[in-house]
Amino acid sequence: CGIVGYLGFREAYPIIINGLKRLEYRGYDSAGLVVMNNNSFGLVKTKGKVSELEEKSQNINDGATVGIGHTRWATHGVPNDVNSHPHLSNDGNLVIVHNGIIENYDSIKTELKQKGFVFHSDTDTEVLVNLIQYVKNSENLSLTEAVRYALNEVIGAYAIAVMEKDQPNEIVVGRLGSPLAIGIGENEFFIASDASPFLQFTKDAVYLDDGEMATITLGQGVDVRKIKDNLQV
Ligand code: GLU
Repeated sequence: CGIVGYLGFREAYPIIINGLKRLEYRGYDSAGLVVMNNNSFGLVKTKGKVSELEEKSQNINDGATVGIGHTRWATHGVPNDVNSHPHLSNDGNLVIVHNGIIENYDSIKTELKQKGFVFHSDTDTEVLVNLIQYVKNSENLSLTEAVRYALNEVIGAYAIAVMEKDQPNEIVVGRLGSPLAIGIGENEFFIASDASPFLQFTKDAVYLDDGEMATITLGQGVDVRKIKDNLQV
């Protein structure tokens, strides 16, 4: 299973598809990607191979220069199109890819359902993205703070990448128990489970440590912080 992402000036789609192909060796049952353009998400996902994803995503809105992709190794919910990643939040503003397991997803899902949230998949991942939406909207938090708050609520293992619809210059990532590397180029950033998808573009990489998250902002850089420290919300 693997994660790829791009934020910069090049077309994101081919970088994500080629990156997913480089991560195929890690094993997976499904694949998907989302690119963001003009404040809208172009999302395609499918059970099966990256080559099938490529066939199904020929008409994705090209020109997008930010996006994330995923290969899934199902742990919660059978391998099918709906359970494949990325997953959207109920309000449609957030999108996530996740490798790993959220162990306490069931109790969080019950609480979110009581608050009116609806779930379309059987995954633990869809619970996490809606928890991020819930704390973000109810506490009026930035994406970074909402991700940090949510990750302090969950038990498990993860590498995640999250995007927000009206923040085309930003990707938030985090890791605990699953690998995540950030490639740093000139005015561009790459995300991947290992460096192989971006080695042809840059040799400069930051490897997140367990328990770290980062906000990647175009024109600014990579802001790494601890998930657990100084939680002020
Ligand atoms: N637990 C998540 C799922 O089943 C992610 C699995 C993975 O690591 O790909 O959808």
